[in-house]
Amino acid sequence: MNKVLVIGCGGVAGVAIQKCAQNAEVFNEICIASRTVSKCDALKQKLEGKTTAKITTAQVDADNVDELVKLIHEVKPDIVLNLALPYQDLTIMDACLKTKVDYVDTANYECEDTNDPEWRAIYEKRCKEKGFTAYFDYSWQWAYRERFEQAGITALLGTGFDPGVTSVFTAYAQKHFFDEIHTIDILDCNGGDHGYPFATNFNPEINLREVSANGSYWENGHWVETKPMEIHRTYNFDGVGEKDMYLLHHEEIESLAQNIPHVKRIRFFMTFGQSYLTHMKCLENVGMLGTEPVEFEGHEIVPIQFLRRLLPDPASLGPRTVGKTNIGCIFTGIKDGKMRTLYIYNVCDHQECYKEVGSQAISYTTGVPAMIGTAMILQGLWKRPGVFTVEEFDPDPYMEALNKWGLPWKIEENPVLVP
Ligand code: NDP
Repeated sequence: MNKVLVIGCGGVAGVAIQKCAQNAEVFNEICIASRTVSKCDALKQKLEGKTTAKITTAQVDADNVDELVKLIHEVKPDIVLNLALPYQDLTIMDACLKTKVDYVDTANYECEDTNDPEWRAIYEKRCKEKGFTAYFDYSWQWAYRERFEQAGITALLGTGFDPGVTSVFTAYAQKHFFDEIHTIDILDCNGGDHGYPFATNFNPEINLREVSANGSYWENGHWVETKPMEIHRTYNFDGVGEKDMYLLHHEEIESLAQNIPHVKRIRFFMTFGQSYLTHMKCLENVGMLGTEPVEFEGHEIVPIQFLRRLLPDPASLGPRTVGKTNIGCIFTGIKDGKMRTLYIYNVCDHQECYKEVGSQAISYTTGVPAMIGTAMILQGLWKRPGVFTVEEFDPDPYMEALNKWGLPWKIEENPVLVP
């Protein structure tokens, strides 16, 4: 009997849990836990009568290791799927270590309070040593490698779409199509329209922190940092059409640079419409993206958290979002001594996702791979002691599962390359 403990019941968790429930042969029992147990109960109710998996709920504050350990002892899961926020990654990993339970997440650790002097000292040292200034990086979680190995448990980091599927696409290209991959361009296109002048498709705080930061890419063994939105390209996406896209820093670049042997350049581009960019710049200019508390009429308010309260809940965008996403990777490299170019991507329709699970495609394209990565470990296919990113395992069963569980992919030879 396999039991998963899912931490979080937001947009991504909502999809992942429904997909676990559809895959009840692998997920026999699912416990859903977050700080607001009523939200977990609502999800449980939605699933009642639709699955043979046993569903339970619990309350937990995942910032608190002792609470997590207590819950894990009570629930006795085989694996913990962390779909709370990146702020909780380390506390949940600590609890998994203490209880010797496998761990899975979709986003690498990010510090909530970037003014914490202890964190800041380590961060500033890293900025100098590595050459990129993003608030998130893998070093915090890679530091758990030895302890996870010794405990005989697996941590699978970043099994969403990007990071996640894009790195599995890379491992698949490496295994089947290339002797050497030289360049990787990860293209994340959201051609969806929700009708609001401004809204984010996943947690606004995490999303806006990511998008307003400096960009960077990996080239010839080091990071090249750019100003936010400095590098702009247009690309004609299958199923979506021509879109403007901008170079961002993204976490999978860091792990792919280590794990893909001959790679010379890795870039990440995301599409944004002009309305989104204008709103974001304006909010940034007036200080609404600030992460430091501000005193207001006797209360301490963190501007970006207040903004989050004002913006539409990403989970509510499902019924109004129309259009498609197209996310994938363009590879160049060598096979049998000849140059080769290849594009592997998935096209996902917002309304199709809504019909199936009541969510838009961003939550869907993250929640499905979260379920698949967890299943890979539960089924013993990706079970190895230590801390890993997805490209370190055999991509074939994961690629098969993507086709089966709603994210079929396409391969295009000789695609148009990004200049
Ligand atoms: P939401 O804000 O919708 O949901 C976050 C959930 O975390 C809520 O259910 C919240 O529940 C729970 N949570 C927050 N703090 C705590 C805490 N201290 N203890 C317990 N639970 C907590 O976020 P999303 O669903 O949009 O995103 C979830 C994760 O997915 C994020 O880490 C995000 O970065 C990642 N992501 C990854 C992508 C990828 O492709 N790899 C793409 C998109 C997102 P409550 O308030 O009840 O505690």
